[in-house]
Amino acid sequence: MKKSIIGLLLIGAFAVSMPFIFNKSIDVKEPHKLDIDGNFIMYDWHYDDFKDEARVGAGTDWDYNLKPVQISERVWCYFGGMEMPTKENAGNMSNSCYIKGDTQWITWDTGPSYIFAKQAYAEMQKIADMPVKTVIISHEHDDHWLGNNYYTEVHKAKVVGPASVNENYYGPRHVEGKDYPGMQTRMIRALYQNATRDTVLALTDEAFEDTTEFEISGVKLEYVKVGYAHSEEDWYLYLPDDKVILAADVVMNGRVTSNRDGLVVGQINALNSIKSREWNHLVPGHGFVTDKTAADETVHYFDILKDRVIEKMEDGVIADFITKEVTLNEFRNMDLYYVLSPQNVFRSYEELEMFDEDDLIDYSDEKEDDDDEDED
Ligand SMILES: [Zn+2]
Repeated sequence: MKKSIIGLLLIGAFAVSMPFIFNKSIDVKEPHKLDIDGNFIMYDWHYDDFKDEARVGAGTDWDYNLKPVQISERVWCYFGGMEMPTKENAGNMSNSCYIKGDTQWITWDTGPSYIFAKQAYAEMQKIADMPVKTVIISHEHDDHWLGNNYYTEVHKAKVVGPASVNENYYGPRHVEGKDYPGMQTRMIRALYQNATRDTVLALTDEAFEDTTEFEISGVKLEYVKVGYAHSEEDWYLYLPDDKVILAADVVMNGRVTSNRDGLVVGQINALNSIKSREWNHLVPGHGFVTDKTAADETVHYFDILKDRVIEKMEDGVIADFITKEVTLNEFRNMDLYYVLSPQNVFRSYEELEMFDEDDLIDYSDEKEDDDDEDED
């Protein structure tokens, strides 16, 4: 009996290891399909005439079946599912918005693919037939900006975004006489080719050092830098006339956030910065709640995450056991709780070991200062 169980286990182990065994012996018949870093390229690349050659795969384009939702007089958004990117959702799991200027649309994030952006624009064109000349990006995670190249290629738009995009990603390159496509990001690898088709990384054209106010086509915008929060470099957009905040991933609701690249203290500071603005609507990076309660869940999540991890740390709980001790049960019924919450807790341990109260920024002071200035 025992022997047969061991036998079965061995067969099982062999079956599981098969792909790895075979992987090792893969012989690359078309070495040109490796990119400059040796990664296998998922689609064919034709540097000179890529507009004529399909960048891949057969079949009609994925239909994202997009319906814009109006948030305020000037703002419409597309809401993605509460999931990780999969072949079944074709990457449609984040939120992106359109802002209506006098003579042009401005986009806030561009979604997971060229085809997503193209279909999103087609819906907006029915509302007002204007081009997109400026694309504004929140952060470098690829569910938020792989639609960029639809706007840069078709509308000749400029991409305003984080400098970190240009540091951590690369687009198509021509090196030592050879052509290489852009980086194969998580999204490009995850989706079917009829969704990723035509998607090429279009990086940031214009980056700002710090929070900047500007006006585009009659719309006043404040592009607010919150720095290292959900990712290495996060920004949100504030429309003071509309009293709308487009928060992207420093706010999520209905699901647990992913803090895999983030900082708890950075997140709390970002949320405090958002609280210091006057707004009636806030669009999260993921989630459907856009009223005055939109940020409440994220505020609560990071508050209890910080307090409980620090408390357990002070009790002497070591990192290995922190996910057993801090479970954030209040969020158990939220989407992605089991997938993301333990890793958020685990990751926060290392950061919070060096927690310093002084790292928290008190934006309420700043608000009072601003108010004083107004009175002068
Ligand atoms: Zn996201």
